[in-house]
Amino acid sequence: MSTYNQIVIIGAGIAGVNAAKTLLDNDYEGKVVLIDRDENLPYDRPPLSKEYLAGTMDNDGILLHPEEFYRDDRMELLLGKSVTELRPDKKTVILNDGEEIGWDKLLITTGSKLRRLQPLDEQNFENVFYLKTQKDASRVQEQLSSINHLAIIGAGFIGLEVAASMLAAGKQVTVFEAAKTPLSRVLGEDMGTYIAEKHRAKGIEIFTDDYITQFKGDSSIREVETKNGIKLACDGVLVGIGVSTDGLLVEGILDFDDGIIVNEFCETSVADIYAAGDCARWTYPISGEKIRIEHWDHAMNQGATAALNMLQPNSQPFTTIPYFWSNQHDLAIQYVGHPTTWDQTVLRGSMEDDTFTMFYLLENKVVGALIVNQPTNVLPIRRLISQSVIVNTDQLGDEKVKLKQIIKQAAVIN
Ligand SMILES: Cc1cc2nc3c(=O)[nH]c(=O)nc-3n(C[C@H](O)[C@H](O)[C@H](O)COP(=O)(O)OP(=O)(O)OC[C@H]3O[C@@H](n4cnc5c(N)ncnc54)[C@H](O)[C@@H]3O)c2cc1C
Repeated sequence: MSTYNQIVIIGAGIAGVNAAKTLLDNDYEGKVVLIDRDENLPYDRPPLSKEYLAGTMDNDGILLHPEEFYRDDRMELLLGKSVTELRPDKKTVILNDGEEIGWDKLLITTGSKLRRLQPLDEQNFENVFYLKTQKDASRVQEQLSSINHLAIIGAGFIGLEVAASMLAAGKQVTVFEAAKTPLSRVLGEDMGTYIAEKHRAKGIEIFTDDYITQFKGDSSIREVETKNGIKLACDGVLVGIGVSTDGLLVEGILDFDDGIIVNEFCETSVADIYAAGDCARWTYPISGEKIRIEHWDHAMNQGATAALNMLQPNSQPFTTIPYFWSNQHDLAIQYVGHPTTWDQTVLRGSMEDDTFTMFYLLENKVVGALIVNQPTNVLPIRRLISQSVIVNTDQLGDEKVKLKQIIKQAAVIN
């Protein structure tokens, strides 16, 4: 029974904003209250490590929607306010200023939290950077002229994107990675090595199987020293060691296990409370595993699906195959699927020409693909993964056989 005639959304990242848009587009007649602790008009995060950092995109360029979008009478955007408490019994949330807001349905899209390096935080150096918010990226930009040599901790996607952006800005860049091969957890050894070598060929130094043990300087870091004894003079350190979620807001209220547990309709363990995007964990239909995805496309689609299910409960199962992209130098990298394990890889195209797709297969079914400079492969591969069919691997590796044809044939065989 409706009492407040409004839906509250906590978090105005891509998941929350797209959920709000979906509600309005689908003629929700109540009010949508969108709350975010960030003071800036909702913006996009991917450009923060790419165009925005490189200075080729400005504040307006990264907005998810222009200001007018939020002037809709059915929308209330509360910026600079944190939700500090959920009261599901009363169907309200409490803000940091004490205000209590009621809801008929609640959507949690609070995203993820940066992993921080404790020893660095304690020392409070002026030239240590993280990259999650617009404010973080602006801080790097403001200090850019005083940075000649940037040390990056972590050769994950964001660390490597920043490395490419900083090199393009004329900086010297050294990356330290604790694993033996960058990105190997996601892409495997071969593809991780391929990408690392591309960076090295451009002039970026990457040290693997190593990590920084000492940060030296007064108010600013001037030198770092590693476990393997490398001493590097630098004038900026960027930390890119990934993200995690914390369950503080939902503790004791919602089921939480490395993310808020949701069902296929994006509903949490408490009726009328939904979650989507980086903060949510759901059962991936292809593998049956519970996974939490930290990708823009996933957050956008899951936000929209949650909205549709809030309008009409249990109407839209979320089945989107995960997808992300990453731009590094002249590599347009795209990745489809979410394999945690595979027993075969098949190359289609030419690694030498940096134009190829590497398929990851499990029991002859495609479960993932790394696509380099072949953007038109994304859609058919998404279809191939969602169909979960046995494929002819000889054909898969042969560019003369169209992907469409492989999909058709696979559907017939299975
Ligand atoms: C620098 C960077 C580059 C990236 N590049 C790519 C890329 O190239 N490709 C890709 O696929 N993905 C990329 N990502 C990841 C992608 O941006 C995220 O997966 C996506 O933003 C997740 O969206 P979300 O809405 O779930 O969460 P978020 O975007 O994190 O939004 C969550 C929002 O909730 C707010 N919030 C949290 N708690 C509260 C609270 N208690 N009260 C009020 N507000 C709260 C936060 O302030 C935040 O604005 C990148 C991320 C970063 C940081």
